[in-house]
Amino acid sequence: MSEYKNLEEKMKACRKCHLRDTCTQVVPGEGNEKAEIMFIGEGPGEKEDKLGRPFVGAAGKFLDEMIGLIGMKREDVFIANVVKCRPPGNRDPLPEEAEACWPWLLAQIKTIQPKLIVTLGRHAMERFLPNQKISQMHGKALRREIPGIGKQVFYALYHPAAALYQGSLRETIKTDFKKIPKVLKAIEKENGENNKTELQMDADRLSDENKQEVLF
Ligand code: URA
Repeated sequence: MSEYKNLEEKMKACRKCHLRDTCTQVVPGEGNEKAEIMFIGEGPGEKEDKLGRPFVGAAGKFLDEMIGLIGMKREDVFIANVVKCRPPGNRDPLPEEAEACWPWLLAQIKTIQPKLIVTLGRHAMERFLPNQKISQMHGKALRREIPGIGKQVFYALYHPAAALYQGSLRETIKTDFKKIPKVLKAIEKENGENNKTELQMDADRLSDENKQEVLF
């Protein structure tokens, strides 16, 4: 069994919070265990809870479309959520629920080792880039040191569901998505050049959050 599958089995047996009492099943996430890009949403909705897979409802359809826009397929990336069990009535996860699930998300990141983590919506962003406004952070790549996983590049996007109820965000999400290949290239270039503290790629920059500098 792969290291990831082993972790998945443990997640499926989790009872660390009361969300497991009301959900149908744990939805750990799915995709390429060696993905370069990991998408992180908020938590399973009704359809995800029923099928045991992340982003399979209307928001998922839009996400698939966006992944296609950058020449990739769902199977190429990894898709997970902040909480793995559906909050009743699709309410926002409570801080203690997100906290209980946090070690699983960290373990997923450590196992998959993505080059880029794309947060979907403000709840996922808040876990990694606290006290920021998504209206200011979306479409910007930023490197942060996260205890337990080390330095990692994050890219915050509006939640795909937001495009469904606020049509004007559709184009914003598309524009942000289209920048992803360029962000990945910048990360690869920096990894190749190693120990540079600041990354410069054409006119675009990935910023070191310690400097409170914004990228793109
Ligand atoms: N919304 C999320 O944040 N995650 C899902 O898995 C589905 C919808």
